[in-house]
This record gives sequence, C-alpha cells and structure tokens, in this order.
Amino acid sequence: MSDRAISTLPPGSTIGIVGCGQLGRMLIQAASQLGYRCHVFGQEETGPAAQVATKFVAGAFDDMAALSAFAKECDVVTYEWENLPGSALEVIGREVPLHPNARALEIGQSRWNEKSFVSDLGGGCAPYARATNAQELAAAIETIGTPAIIKSDRMGYDGKGQIRLQAGEILDAAAIQQKWEDLGGNDVLVEGFVNFDAEFSLLIARSADGGMRFWDAPQNTHEGGILRHSIVPGGEDVAVHIPAARALARKIAERLDYIGVLAIEFFACKDGPLFNEMAPRVHNSGHWTIEGALTSQFENHIRAICGLPLGDTRLIEGGAEMQNLIGHDIDKWPDLMGDQGAHLHLYGKREAREGRKMGHVTRLL
Ligand code: AMP
Repeated sequence: MSDRAISTLPPGSTIGIVGCGQLGRMLIQAASQLGYRCHVFGQEETGPAAQVATKFVAGAFDDMAALSAFAKECDVVTYEWENLPGSALEVIGREVPLHPNARALEIGQSRWNEKSFVSDLGGGCAPYARATNAQELAAAIETIGTPAIIKSDRMGYDGKGQIRLQAGEILDAAAIQQKWEDLGGNDVLVEGFVNFDAEFSLLIARSADGGMRFWDAPQNTHEGGILRHSIVPGGEDVAVHIPAARALARKIAERLDYIGVLAIEFFACKDGPLFNEMAPRVHNSGHWTIEGALTSQFENHIRAICGLPLGDTRLIEGGAEMQNLIGHDIDKWPDLMGDQGAHLHLYGKREAREGRKMGHVTRLL
C-alpha cells in the first residue's frame, strides 16, 4: 500500500510510529499540536516516545501478528528507527499506508545498499569495498589501504560497529579474524579515511505530490562517531557544496518516490561533497528546526505522511545551533533551565549512560 496515492488524513486520525526513542517522541509532540493521535509500537514501555503516546503497544519487531494488529488500528504508519526487518514493513504495508516506503528503508539500513544506490545516481562516496567473511575483509583492506574505517554494513549507529585502521597499520590473518569477530561476524564495509574540511547534512521534506523543501544545511561536529553539535548556517566550507549536494538529494528522493523527511550526511571535501550516509527519517542534525525554522522537521514529516501541504522551512532568526546532551551532560539541566537563551529538550530517559543521547539544547543566533 505504500505507493498508493495519498489522501489527506484529517486531524483526529491515528498515526502509528514504529520505534519508541526520542525521534518518535518529538514526532508525537508535532503531531499532537496538529490534532493527531499517535500509537507507538516498540520494545520499551518506558521509552521516550512510549511516555507521550496515545497508546503504546509492546512487541518485538519480528512479531508479525502484533505488528499487523498495531497497523489495523492506525490510519498511516511511519517509523523512527531504520533497523527494522523488511518483513515488518511488508506486514504493516498490507494493512495501511506506510511512509517512507519499504524501499527507502531497504536502502537506508545498509551502508552497501545506500552507497551503491547513490553511486549509481552519480554521487561521490569515499572509496569502499564490501566483505562477507574474514578473507574478503583482508582483501578489502588491501584494496582500500589505510587509514580506513571498517563499518558494519547494518545496525551501526552513533559510532557503534566501527573500527579505525591507522595509516600503515599491518594486520595478520589472526588480527583480521579478530576484527571480523569484534564486529559481530556480519557483512562489513571497508571505507577509505576522508580528510574532510567539514561535515554537513541535508534535511529534505518531500510530499506525496512530489513537492520538496530543504532546510538550511547544518554543519555538524561528531566526537567518537556521535553527533555533538549542529549549526546553521554552516561555514563557507559547507556553503560551496550545497548546490551539488541538493541536486543529488533531489535525485535520491525522487528515485525512491520518497514521502516524509529524509536526512543525508556529507563530507565537505576540496573536490566536492562526498555522500556518507542517509537516514529515511527525521534526524538529530535537524533538531534545531523545532525553534529555529518556521516549520520543524518533525511537523513536516507529519504533514507529508498525512497528505497535508508542507510548511515553510526558512530560518526564524539569522541562525541556530544545537548541542546534544550525551550521558552525564544531562546533569547540567538545572543551569540550562535557568538559561534564558536555551531551549531545553529532555527525552525522559531514566539512566544516563556513556554515549547515550539524553536531550539537546537549541539556541537561536
Ligand atoms: P557514520 O556512522 O558513518 O556517520 O560515521 C560517524 C562519524 O565518523 C562521521 O560523521 C565522521 O565524523 C566519522 N567518519 C565516518 N566515516 C569516515 C570516513 N570514511 N573518513 C573520515 N571520517 C569518517
């Protein structure tokens, strides 16, 4: 049903969200402002989205009967996490319209799929090679050379599922076998290390009639593979690459017949933008849009999947910046609550663990 023409869902309709993290929570906050009800399907009753949902359905992502029953109670379904089995989306799509469609998820959940897809569309990527066993990993390292990063093909996020290889690092067969096992013994990509000038992302909303809107592109800073900070507008290093990156993004969204918000991460390099990865969903580097743009990424995702017109994506002030609160950064909340310029968002997670995204702060510039 995912490619069926979309009709407008009136306020009061029920939106289903698969996944119960902070992205789902902020989608619900935007949806409820527009008068929609949201049901959440996920594994954690105390998850950030479960806490604010009209209804929470506990279930595993491979429990097809539970997913089907969930979908039957919704008017449209979306997802906030891309590591779902394709079969889950198939089951949902049989019951109810699903956006973004299953093809977007199939591409977005595998680094190999997304890089092959984007290369076919003419986009540039860091050199990469796939390995499906330890012998192929040895060959892939040989082909790509060092420095390099070995990345799990699937399920990696926030720097998890990655191993860096230093320049000149020589690995014998036993060391390669060990790295293969450390990454779980599943398919990996070996990627050449990119000496980028900056990192940025594009956030795009596409509606059912093919209309597209971009927000200003945030320049992003990662530490240990985790997003720390996003700022708009980005610097000159980023600005020069926006037209080429947008042209590629348009092709990606059109080829996927995408409905909803799509995020694409790029490295800004001397010779042009290099595609790094994409997420078929709202994205951490777009959280600043809640206060910083006329319409947030969350509202436009809801608008797109409900067949409503997209809202204006322009900046409200001259710019905005967003700082993630990771792990014990959250202990600063009393100061932040008293900081008049800080728009504080806390996700309601009980335990502050290292590397865990607990909240974020946006400031208008
Ligand atoms: P990823 O999960 O692929 O987005 O990687 C997380 C972060 O690690 C990126 O945002 C970069 O800061 C860094 N990184 C990933 N791949 C590369 C690469 N090929 N070269 C240099 N840095 C990288």
